[in-house]
Amino acid sequence: MSFQVFGIAVSQGVAIGRAVLVGAGRVDVAHYFVEPDRVAQEVARCEGACAQVAEELVALRDELPADAPPELAALLDVHLMMARDEAFVGGAREWITERRYNAEWALSAQMEALGRQFDEMEDDYLRERKVDLEQVVERILAVLSRQAKGGGESLPAALPRDFGGDDPLLLVASDIAPADLIGFRQGVFRGFITDVGGRTSHTAIVARSMNIPAVVGAREASRLIRQDDWVIIDGDAGIAIVDPSPVVLAEYRFRQRQAELEQERLSLWRHRPAVTLDGHPVEMLANIELPADAEAALAAGAEGVGLFRTEFLFMNRGGKLPTEDEQYLAYRAALENLQGRPLTIRTVDVGADKPLDRSHGSDHQLNPALGLRAIRWSLAEPVMFRQQLRAILRAAQHGPVRLLIPMLAHQSELMEVRSTLDRVRAQWSTHSDQPCPRVDLGIMVEVPAAALILDRVLPWVDFVSIGTNDLIQYTLAIDRADEAVAHLYDPWHPAVLQLIASVIRQARSAGKAVSVCGEMAGDLAFTALLLGLGLRSFSMNPPQITLVKQRILRADAAKLQEMAADVLAHEQPQERARQLGLA
Ligand code: PEP
Ligand code: MG
Repeated sequence: MSFQVFGIAVSQGVAIGRAVLVGAGRVDVAHYFVEPDRVAQEVARCEGACAQVAEELVALRDELPADAPPELAALLDVHLMMARDEAFVGGAREWITERRYNAEWALSAQMEALGRQFDEMEDDYLRERKVDLEQVVERILAVLSRQAKGGGESLPAALPRDFGGDDPLLLVASDIAPADLIGFRQGVFRGFITDVGGRTSHTAIVARSMNIPAVVGAREASRLIRQDDWVIIDGDAGIAIVDPSPVVLAEYRFRQRQAELEQERLSLWRHRPAVTLDGHPVEMLANIELPADAEAALAAGAEGVGLFRTEFLFMNRGGKLPTEDEQYLAYRAALENLQGRPLTIRTVDVGADKPLDRSHGSDHQLNPALGLRAIRWSLAEPVMFRQQLRAILRAAQHGPVRLLIPMLAHQSELMEVRSTLDRVRAQWSTHSDQPCPRVDLGIMVEVPAAALILDRVLPWVDFVSIGTNDLIQYTLAIDRADEAVAHLYDPWHPAVLQLIASVIRQARSAGKAVSVCGEMAGDLAFTALLLGLGLRSFSMNPPQITLVKQRILRADAAKLQEMAADVLAHEQPQERARQLGLA
């Protein structure tokens, strides 16, 4: 039976395919596809972990003290039976051999499939055995996780492209960490739906950068949609249509084709410079997550990278941080991909919805979005920070690099960064006989405090980049990843617009470069307003570049300046922008 699931539209377009449910259980595990020649090894890893848990359960049962309650022995027997059950172990084996899921994913997929069968049982006692199954799976996953940590395994960087037979696949998950989504970059999934998340959650941003339609905050999606269901994702409307009728399917296939034609048409603008009608050149930069993205950014028409989110090099490595050499090679690769164009490297910004490691999570912090994240974490880990700065300076020998500091709130943080940088420079000659390269230093303005003390900070920096995603979050006290308050996450809020306008004005009058690298830069509803506020540098996900450029080519900056002032003075800025035809 066809039905619809409603969520928040975060990445446009239409995707049609079969649902692949990921991590629907309560255990959060890595999801990736194994290479064909590693399938047998993965099956052995999975079966080995099941066998080890069975052995542990036998030992536990045998060691039960004589006075232990008989229910405990019975419970261990149930768990043991499950750990050896062919429906469970064999089912997991099939996910690995037929779908090439990694062992952890296969186990949770099978747990979810059997869990549904338990849910449908009439008998209360049997229905409740689902909890036992989950406990057994958690034990097995713990064994796999211990083995992975011992063996230093992490998500593989490359994924098979030929996976999944002929049917396109869509990812359906309760939640998916941005780092895991990056793991699916190689084009395996055509779209995704999650139960949680907001428009500027990092998972949504990664989806936009991958140019795949996505719907987040769809609450019950991962419970209602089943493995292999045919689903249409309408990324413009924020809905998923499950088991669509042939008429609906035909309509969406038509829309899909129209969108492809539009993309082809837009690609003609790719390498044309973005200049307004009245002659103002506008810099079009890209946001990237991995060094390889730099190449795609150039192909999409970027003139450089305005934001390299280096935290993706740090995430999901089982707690091990990348070495200085690994980082140097990654930054250098990005620079080489850019062929002489500028690379803005943001120092690591982990925390909140980008935990270092899924097993570390952020849940031990009371309020992770306000906790030890971004530059706060870097300053608290001076050895790690110096390593990153050294790696960046070393890479800067190969091309133009700008150094960007995330989440600055205090002037003292900037001073500490500068003195750390001085120290790394002073030690340079002990590592290299080449002169230490100069890099421009900039800060993200993404905490209202930074916007409000900008006059004190500007003399110490070469440029600023406005991170509207966090600026909105911290100005309005709205968690950007929480779908429950997504309707209150309002980029048009006068307080947000005033802060942005003031940062652009101050930076320009101090002669410092200013750019916007938050999602507003790639949102067509704000292109005219930002131009009118004097912005001449935009940094966005590569797929949005041609769209925004098209707007810029048709804009008259002088006229927009007056209109922007009008919008800002109005009680209802969004309403006024619409009346003036800006949004
Ligand atoms: C921002 O906050 O606007 C930004 C660009 O940084 P991130 O989205 O990585 O937090
Ligand atoms: Mg930010």
